[in-house]
Order: sequence, then structure tokens, then C-alpha cells
Amino acid sequence: MIEPCATTTGAAGRKICGIFHLLTCGHIIAIDNEDRRCGRNCQHAATLSASTLEHSEELISHMQYNDKLHCETCYGIPFDRYRLITSQEEPFGLRRSLAITRSMLQTNFGLDHDLVNAMLCSPFFNSTLKGFDWNNTHALRCGHEVWSITLRPCGANCTDAPGCRGASYPQKERRADAILCQECVARAELVYQRYTKLEEERASRGGDGGVSAGPRATPEPREAGW
Ligand SMILES: [Zn+2]
Ligand SMILES: [Zn+2]
Ligand SMILES: [Zn+2]
Ligand SMILES: [Zn+2]
Ligand SMILES: [Zn+2]
Repeated sequence: MIEPCATTTGAAGRKICGIFHLLTCGHIIAIDNEDRRCGRNCQHAATLSASTLEHSEELISHMQYNDKLHCETCYGIPFDRYRLITSQEEPFGLRRSLAITRSMLQTNFGLDHDLVNAMLCSPFFNSTLKGFDWNNTHALRCGHEVWSITLRPCGANCTDAPGCRGASYPQKERRADAILCQECVARAELVYQRYTKLEEERASRGGDGGVSAGPRATPEPREAGW
């Protein structure tokens, strides 16, 4: 279960942030380093007043920082790559965070492939217009309406306005855990796959260049490399 921007109690009894955060773009990311504070682009930080955000010192606490968390799904670039191509000096203002992928979920929760797949909700289509229960649909902040196989209350990442069509769960209850969007997880995996492929192509350049798909002239062997 993923509870974005949630706090847990650390070793010294002090409250610390969990690793998952829900960003204003609607994507959920994980922080894999020590500093797990919320960023300026965390969804719940967006509800802070504009004047609070301007006076950043007020915003900074052990739970909240004034930087932004990188969204690999929106940028389409893994953080480490993005860091290489940008010319910005320190302080960078963008904190390393990782998009949610199935392999990451497997590692994080110690689940096998099937259990991780069961965590994901597929986009909702009803092309045959058959009857169905609205209560199984959820409109997420990422922009996708998904189908939850289990009947559950809205999650941390359901939209507020106009809200989920079937949000008639008793007392419009909202649970702190997120509903995972299969489509956005697949997009994040594509981002990684693309860069893995680029790395492979780079590594094989000067060799037979056989990675590329489709007919192409065999590239000249390069001496210099990268
Ligand atoms: Zn957060
Ligand atoms: Zn927070
Ligand atoms: Zn995003
Ligand atoms: Zn919902
Ligand atoms: Zn989505």
C-alpha cells in the first residue's frame, strides 16, 4: 500500500516522511535518499497559500522543503540523465526522485510480478456501454480514469473537482493510500526502457551497430568512442 506524503515515526520517535509522494502533476514518485521531505510540487503543498510559498523560510521544516521533486514520467528523462544534460549549477533546486515502475514495486514491497500487477488499475473503457458499477471507477489526478477491481473508497490521488463519478462510498470517505494507474506506470517503464536502449546503442557503437531496428547502413566503426 502506498501512502503518498505520509509520515511515519522514526527511530527517535520523531516524525519522518515516507518515501512516496504525490506531485501536482498527478504522478507518484519515490525518494531513494535520506531527504524525504515533501517538495514544493507535492500536491498537498500546492494547497499552501501563495504568500507562504513566497516566504520560503516559513515553508521549510523537517517535513517540507522548498525545492521540487523530479518527475521522470512528465519529463520523459530519468533523473540521472536529466542531471547530466542540464547546465544548472548548485543548488540545483530539483531533488532526485524515481518514477514508480513494476520492478521498483517488486523490490520495495517484496512482491512477485503477479501481485504487483494486481496493484495496478487499468484505464477504464466501456466501449460496449454495458452496465457497470460507477463505484469501481476512479478519476485520478494524472488524468486517467481507472477501474478498480475491488470496491474501495477514493484514494489520495483521486481528483477533487469534479471528483470521481462513483464517489458514493459511505460518507465520501477518502483513504490515505493511492490508487496506482497502470497506464502511468507503463509510461514510466517506457522512459527507463528508452534510456536503457540508448545506453546499449552507445555501448555497441563502433561494434556491429546491430541494436537499431530496420534497415540501415552499417555505421562506420568509430575509434574515439564517447
Ligand atoms: Zn510529499
Ligand atoms: Zn508534506
Ligand atoms: Zn509527473
Ligand atoms: Zn476516487
Ligand atoms: Zn495515469
